[in-house]
Amino acid sequence: MRTISDVDFQNKRSLIRVDFNVPLNENNEITDNTRIKAAVPTIKLILENGGSVILMSHLGRPKGGFEEKYSLKHIVGELETLIDHEVKFLEDCVSDESIEYTKNLKKGTVVLLENLRFYPEEKEGDEDFAKKLANHGDIYINDAFGTAHRAHASTAIIAKNFPNDKYFGLLLEKEIKNIDILLHDPKPPTTAIIGGAKVSSKITIIENLLDSVDQIIIGGGMAYTFIKAKGGKVGDSLVEDDFLETAKKVLEMADSKDVTIHLPTDTIIADRFANDANAKSCNINDIPTGWMGLDIGTESIKIFNKVIQTSRTILWNGPMGVFEMESFNNGTIAIANSLVNATSNGAFTLIGGGDSVAAINQLNLGDQVSYVSTGGGAMLEYLEGKELPGIKSITN
Ligand code: AMP
Repeated sequence: MRTISDVDFQNKRSLIRVDFNVPLNENNEITDNTRIKAAVPTIKLILENGGSVILMSHLGRPKGGFEEKYSLKHIVGELETLIDHEVKFLEDCVSDESIEYTKNLKKGTVVLLENLRFYPEEKEGDEDFAKKLANHGDIYINDAFGTAHRAHASTAIIAKNFPNDKYFGLLLEKEIKNIDILLHDPKPPTTAIIGGAKVSSKITIIENLLDSVDQIIIGGGMAYTFIKAKGGKVGDSLVEDDFLETAKKVLEMADSKDVTIHLPTDTIIADRFANDANAKSCNINDIPTGWMGLDIGTESIKIFNKVIQTSRTILWNGPMGVFEMESFNNGTIAIANSLVNATSNGAFTLIGGGDSVAAINQLNLGDQVSYVSTGGGAMLEYLEGKELPGIKSITN
C-alpha cells in the first residue's frame, strides 16, 4: 500500500482530495464535523514534515455552477479550529489566479479550494479539468473514502498526473486496512450481520461475504423475503417477490459453502407502519394478513447475541428493524450493545453503511467498537468485491 508515513514532504506541495461534504443548517453552520475531523491527521502529518497543503473537496449537489449554500468557505472556520492553523480560501478551484497562487506556496501554508462540483467536469471525470487541478501539487493524496467508489476528476482521473507521487491519506489507509481484516484476514469465527430494508440492495454483498465469513445474521426488512422463500407466512411485511428465487439460491449457496445463515425466529408485528400502531410479538413464520414485521423479537435477540458473543470478527451493516421509530428500535439497540460487549471481550467489530453507523452514533457507542467506517456507498461497494476507482488509481 502506498502510504504517506514514509514520504519526505519538505518544501513539497501536497494536493489532498478530502471529503468535506458535511451537513450544514439553513444558516450555513456545520451540524456534524466528523468528516473534517477525519481529515486532520493527514494534514497535520504533512505540516509537521515541512510541507504545504492544498485541500480539495465537493460539498452537496450543486447544479454545475456557483451556489452560495454549497460554498466551501462555510467550512474554513471549523477547519482552522480543528487543525489549529490558518487556512487560505481560494474562490475558484482551477482559475489562473488560483493556480498562480499555489505555484510557489511557502512551507506550512494550508489552502482550501472552492467546491470542485461547481464545475460539471468534476463528476464527468474530465481529463483536462483533472490536469488543471494537478497544477496545484507536487504530490497527490487521496484521503476521501466517501467518494472512493466514484471515477471523478479529483478522486481518480487526476492520479495519472502523479505517476510516482500518489498516495493514500491516513484515513483511506485505515479504512482499507480495517475492511481488509474482515475480507482477507479475519480471526474465526467470523460473522456478518446484515439488515436494512431490501434484499436487492444487499444481495451482492451477501454473495461476496459467503467466501469470507462463517455465519451471516439476517435481520431488518430483508429478512421477510428469506422467510417467505422458505415457505413462511409474512403477512403484509416488506417482501421483494422478484427476489424470492435469489433468496433461495443464497440459502443453498450458503449451505454448500458451510456458512450458517441465522434468520429471526420471532418478530414484533404492527397493524400499521407507524410508531403508535398496535404491536405484538409473533412467530416469524406466522404473521397474519394485515400485520407487518417491523423489528426482530426477544427470542431472536437472544439467539443473535449468542452468535455475536462467540464470534471473533464481526461486521454489522443495516438496522434490525425500523429503528427510526422508538417502538421498533429494540432489536437494533440490542445488536449495538451486543457488539460493544463483544469488542470489550476482544472481538474485532466493524460497523459500516449509513444506517448502522447512524444507529451506533445515536447511541454514543461509536468509540466502543473497533472501527466505524466513514464511507457508506464506498464501503458497501468494497464489501461487494468491486475495485474502487479511487483505490485503483493509486495502486496502479
Ligand atoms: P438500508 O438503507 O437498506 O440499510 O435500510 C435501512 C432502512 O431499512 C431503515 O430506514 C429502516 O427503517 C428500514 N427497515 C428496517 N427494518 C425494516 C422492516 N422490518 N420493515 C420496513 N423497513 C425496515
